Amino acid sequence: MIDPSTIERILDSANISDVVSEFVTLKKRGVNQLGLCPFHNEKTPSFTVSPAKGIFKCFGCGKGGNSVNFIMELEQLSYPDALRWLAKKFHIEIEEKEESQEEKLLKDERESMMIVSAFAQKYFSRFLLKENEGRTIGLSYLRERGIRDDIITKFELGYCPDGKDLFTQAATREGYKMDFLEKTGLTIKRDDWIRDRFGGRVIFPVHNVAGRVIAFGGRTLTNDKKVAKYLNSPESEIYHKGRTLYGIYQAKRDITKLDKCYLVEGYTDVLSFHQAGIENVVASSGTSLTIDQIRLIRRFSPNITIVYDGDDAGIKASLRGIDMVLEEGINVKVLPLPRGEDPDSFARSMSAGELTEYIKKNETDFIKFKTQLLMGTVENDPVSKAKLINEIVRSISVIPDTITRTIYIKECSRLMDVQEAVLYSEIRKIQNKQSEDHTRKELQEIQTQAAKPAATPAEKKTANPFETEEREIIRVLLKYFNHEVFEMEDEETNEVSTYTVGVYVISELHNDGLTSVNPKVTAILAAMEENLYNKDFDPIRFFTLHPDSEISQYASNLLADKYIESKRWSKGGAFIESERELLYLLVPKLIQEYKSKKVKMMLKKLEQQINEASKNNETEKLMEYMGQHMKLKEVLKELSVLLGFRTIS
Ligand SMILES: [Zn+2]
Repeated sequence: MIDPSTIERILDSANISDVVSEFVTLKKRGVNQLGLCPFHNEKTPSFTVSPAKGIFKCFGCGKGGNSVNFIMELEQLSYPDALRWLAKKFHIEIEEKEESQEEKLLKDERESMMIVSAFAQKYFSRFLLKENEGRTIGLSYLRERGIRDDIITKFELGYCPDGKDLFTQAATREGYKMDFLEKTGLTIKRDDWIRDRFGGRVIFPVHNVAGRVIAFGGRTLTNDKKVAKYLNSPESEIYHKGRTLYGIYQAKRDITKLDKCYLVEGYTDVLSFHQAGIENVVASSGTSLTIDQIRLIRRFSPNITIVYDGDDAGIKASLRGIDMVLEEGINVKVLPLPRGEDPDSFARSMSAGELTEYIKKNETDFIKFKTQLLMGTVENDPVSKAKLINEIVRSISVIPDTITRTIYIKECSRLMDVQEAVLYSEIRKIQNKQSEDHTRKELQEIQTQAAKPAATPAEKKTANPFETEEREIIRVLLKYFNHEVFEMEDEETNEVSTYTVGVYVISELHNDGLTSVNPKVTAILAAMEENLYNKDFDPIRFFTLHPDSEISQYASNLLADKYIESKRWSKGGAFIESERELLYLLVPKLIQEYKSKKVKMMLKKLEQQINEASKNNETEKLMEYMGQHMKLKEVLKELSVLLGFRTIS
């Protein structure tokens, strides 16, 4: 836990230019600084830093935020870890409570298991590099396989001494409880004996996304056929095989930057790729790829290339599992290697340049690959062929992009020797079914929405048709929250009071019960409402430094966006000095536009419902909808008359 006053000091010292300059060469451009974006590949700089606002923004890939967001994004760290990073850079001492041995053991189970795993990793690494047995057996094996020292360090490889329970003894001596040694699987305990799981094995620690060790893989060095070549940690509270990818911690930065991830099979495949200079690579470690693993990759990039050895029979089974992820807009490619090669041997046999070149030339689109692979097995069997066509068409039909779909259809028509028209009609059948389901769902949503206007968390994922309006409203609120622009006369006393932009907007939205489906917008508006009469409230500071990084990024991005501003105000044609002077016009107009769009949307949906009801002869429903429709029409008319407030002249 970092205490709030320390966080404050870190945020105050973490000057955006200083932080970014650590990674990007910046050139002065007016009041801003410009450089090549570290988050996407570009040749001309579109990455802008505004020292005055304390934010960065890339106009190429859209990434933006404050110094903390920058470090979180670049180093793929959590919020507290990014703060720690900044504290270290700006020499700010963090007061974090050091834990006593006793407290360490009292911590919750997961944490204790991670602490034990961290100890084990350090023990194994030290043993590999410093102890005689580790060096002569473990290290010499790794060297023989051509694994460089920098890779050994990077992946924190180790060696567990060959003895009954040398490691377990060391751990218990250090105060680690048998309970957690057992739960992590590091120690195997029976009634009458105890032994180390990984004795005499070279150790590959498995890290989670944040870089903490959660499991181990151990490779035996004996030639005994009865001994399993690889032994892995068992599933545990901290290790779920199907949700973990080996190498994700070391790869995530490059996956983000290069917007692509290679998927290989084993530990050594990952090491060899890194050694060849390709660092955006992870391994599924033997299991066939799971949806959770694919989603983990998608957090960093939607482009996955699966690298498989040329003659693996298991490939068909694993590939079948991937079908459902195409739907999520993930772009899956496959890279078959030449017969007899595995990713490890293959990567070691060529230079980084050659490897990249080979990949570029040979990676195939997933659907095409699957078609080719499966067509070979059904050639003379019309029933299986029809089944296969249906299966592939189903895969194609879920691809969100039309152009991509068209290309696939062409390709499959050729590969499967079926007319394109047939494929199209199959796809239409599937899509019709899907869109029917979709319309039905949407109508249900409208009805529940009409009944209760508040947005529920379940709606988070639905697209927000009011995004532009809401962005503009929040932007204006951020910038002019405390500007007094409006006044209102009390009907009884005739006393005139002035109001800020904040009060005006929040109360307008509040009075009509307008809510957003975007949880960030809802959270920002709620925080503003709480601070409506707080004179010291500085919304820019409050939201760009918000601990919820989604909120701070949303706010920073809005402030970096000059486009909306200029577009909105150049429309009139007349030269307009500044947005600030026009707030009295701009703000009411914004609210009015937002409201009327909401009402129009509701009207449109009601019209659909009316149609439906009249088609089905549902008189009662029809009457109800028409009543609602009339009321909304009235509301729409009234909207053009501004309510209550006047502007200060
Ligand atoms: Zn960028």
